[in-house]
Amino acid sequence: MTILANKTDLVRAGSGTWQDQMKWAIRDLRGLRDALGLAAEGGLQLAAEAEFPVFAPLPYLARINSGDLGDPLLRQVWPSGNEMESPGHFSTDPLGESDATTSSGMLQKYQGRVLLVTTGACAVHCRYCFRRHFPYEQSPKSVVQWEPTLAKIAADESVEEVILSGGDPLTIVDHSLDSLVSRIDEIAHVKRIRFHTRLPIMIPQRVTDAFLGILANARSQMIVVIHANHANELDLLVEQALSKIANSGAMLLNQAVLLRGVNDSLGSLKDLSERLLSCRVLPYYLHQLDPVNGAAHFEVDVKQGLQLITELRSCLPGYAVPRYVQELRGEPNKTVLA
Ligand code: SF4
Repeated sequence: MTILANKTDLVRAGSGTWQDQMKWAIRDLRGLRDALGLAAEGGLQLAAEAEFPVFAPLPYLARINSGDLGDPLLRQVWPSGNEMESPGHFSTDPLGESDATTSSGMLQKYQGRVLLVTTGACAVHCRYCFRRHFPYEQSPKSVVQWEPTLAKIAADESVEEVILSGGDPLTIVDHSLDSLVSRIDEIAHVKRIRFHTRLPIMIPQRVTDAFLGILANARSQMIVVIHANHANELDLLVEQALSKIANSGAMLLNQAVLLRGVNDSLGSLKDLSERLLSCRVLPYYLHQLDPVNGAAHFEVDVKQGLQLITELRSCLPGYAVPRYVQELRGEPNKTVLA
């Protein structure tokens, strides 16, 4: 299948530590084109790249078919001139997260749960990212800086679940992540700690023994919510990494985004659910795209999404059909569409 033009990169995709892979990631359009044998789109594509730079790690690129501009994995990281057009209902803060920020780095949108924006760093720049314009610089950078927020969580007994998000919380090195998780785990009324991460998919080497120790040793129930949109993202290395997470005792869920040209067909959604189950991951959510500036070309009509879910129900067991949800600005919970 693959295939990076550069042999050195091919070898590197399955080697090194996760930090090596972060260093070796392709960070510009020219690098992406060279690695995958692709042609340029033209001037607007450079403008799209300037708005949101390319970041794509080698283990992910190694799953892309060389020279295929329609590859569903490529589309997720490929800057397109279409990003420069945004209809009126698209914005830089589609979920109104700036209104939900209750303390530096902490968002509370839902009863009983708080979300910590632990970092602005990710192991990939997804072109449809709803936080591509988020003011990450306002978030704390160390456990010491998190202390005032942790004190607020400790003082609010209604908080039963803490979600570590970002960016991607697994870009934080293990010893710092361990310190933060341990501090949260000490708060007696916190019952669950949830990671929202795409790193086990992008760089499976990130599932280190130290991270598995964090999952296995916590008092709280640990939940790892990964983000895969297409079955081709889940190769053997990813499957092995996910299996280790499942063996640690953590619950493993997936959230996908319904994306035009990536997974907007019955076949691709069915394959994704089946592949997730074979990797011991429950297909939990299928999100309607958040209308963020730059992502309009990925939008799938809700009517089509509902039809796809109906068709999925006819060929998969109920537990393999994700909940089709939409997050609406100001709503107290996600809207379940199907
Ligand atoms: S991994 Fe998540 S937060 Fe990071 S760029 Fe992709 S969608 Fe955005």
